[in-house]
Amino acid sequence: MKFHLLRLLVLYFFNYSFAKFNDDVSLSDLVPDPLFPDQALRQDYVTLNFNYDDVDETVESDRMFSISKMNRLYKNFLFQGDLVISKEFLKEIVKASSIRGKRQAYRDSNYPKTIWTDEIPYSMHPKMPQKTRRVIRTAIKFWETETCVRFKNAQQRGKNTSHLFFTHQNPGCWSTVGRDVHMKKQVVNVGPGCDQFGVVTHETAHALGIFHEQSRYDRDEFVDIVENRIIDNQKLNFIKIPPQFLSTYDLPYDLGSVMHYAPYEFAKTRKHFTLLPKDLRFMATLGQIDGPSFKDVLLVNKHYKCSDKCKSEISCQNLGYQNPNDCQKCKCPKSFGGRFCEEIEKSSSEICGGTINVTDDLQALMVNFGSMKRVTSRRKCVYHLKANEDRKILLAVKILFGNCIQGCQFNHLLINDRSDLITSGFRLCCSKVEELHFFTYQNFASSEFSTGVHAFQGILVFRSG
Ligand SMILES: [Zn+2]
Repeated sequence: MKFHLLRLLVLYFFNYSFAKFNDDVSLSDLVPDPLFPDQALRQDYVTLNFNYDDVDETVESDRMFSISKMNRLYKNFLFQGDLVISKEFLKEIVKASSIRGKRQAYRDSNYPKTIWTDEIPYSMHPKMPQKTRRVIRTAIKFWETETCVRFKNAQQRGKNTSHLFFTHQNPGCWSTVGRDVHMKKQVVNVGPGCDQFGVVTHETAHALGIFHEQSRYDRDEFVDIVENRIIDNQKLNFIKIPPQFLSTYDLPYDLGSVMHYAPYEFAKTRKHFTLLPKDLRFMATLGQIDGPSFKDVLLVNKHYKCSDKCKSEISCQNLGYQNPNDCQKCKCPKSFGGRFCEEIEKSSSEICGGTINVTDDLQALMVNFGSMKRVTSRRKCVYHLKANEDRKILLAVKILFGNCIQGCQFNHLLINDRSDLITSGFRLCCSKVEELHFFTYQNFASSEFSTGVHAFQGILVFRSG
């Protein structure tokens, strides 16, 4: 089979100091013949039976960050790595965990008493370092901007008022789940090393009533738990939360949720993963602590009935929904923008991004970010790839240079080829391992190249098929 390279878009951004396109990598390396046989190669990446050992240690394990790793001293006291719940509640969960049902936010028969009403009073430990304080304020601001939830400073109101108490006095990052009417002070601990945006938004989401993604009743359809690799007395952390205690609000399972475990949680050895996505393209995505996903935000908006804030409805496209903080606009899934989510999300620079018409001719797109000492916001280039309706897209991806870390928070190429736009796409950032090719599920895929200060370089090669 012959291929024609119709166009090669090579984009260099902002800083040329970083190495240019590596001559060792030719397009024929990236797009080998077997990419285009007629069978659906997608099968290679969505397989249920594979050798776990093949996918272990895809990232540099000594640089992995996870919340439960930060909390290892307390692993026998915290549920699921970072949750403080009463023994009675835990017993109830365990007892009922065998029951299957549809339900991820803490919602039992006491709901809505388990959520905060009006403004959530909070205070911070008086001796908390400035940096930690700043991150907590940013996290609070995030939840206020993205949802109808509101916080208010309770510092002045005395110790007896029921409130969230942010402290740094204990090691680790942990929280209670939802509002507990029996507690005056609900601790959210942000110990040394936990003062990161993704971590604090995660812990605050617990305090708002959100459980971990992988504790959903339907998680077995999306992840495999490798039981014999879990530390013996820690298996309880992988229990599913029964339906009478949480609700998914019928939202899809999100492997890119900030509330999802990384693949090595509670593992006997760091080399062996305990939790793996069925779709292995999501391997580097699990445990991302960049920040809440579109679906995480939507879940909190549903849990707090934020849609009630708008008197009249507007109709949003591409699975967007009405913004409770600005009823004339929609909140849009990743890669979409505009008032009604009818447009592509804006890239950080006008010289990149846009919609590419995918034809039977082979095209290639390469994005190269140089490293920068300082950036005011993330640099990103967003693309929509679109083929004719009756076609799918054959896509080959290679990361040429990237900061390789579980969750890919420093830089990533985010690809979403699902029709379900509510869930996150998969993240790629490791040049060592991430070279793959697959058929998209439909005639559309979105892709976002993104980085902060780090150099990042990736290439997409595609055509319709
Ligand atoms: Zn957690």
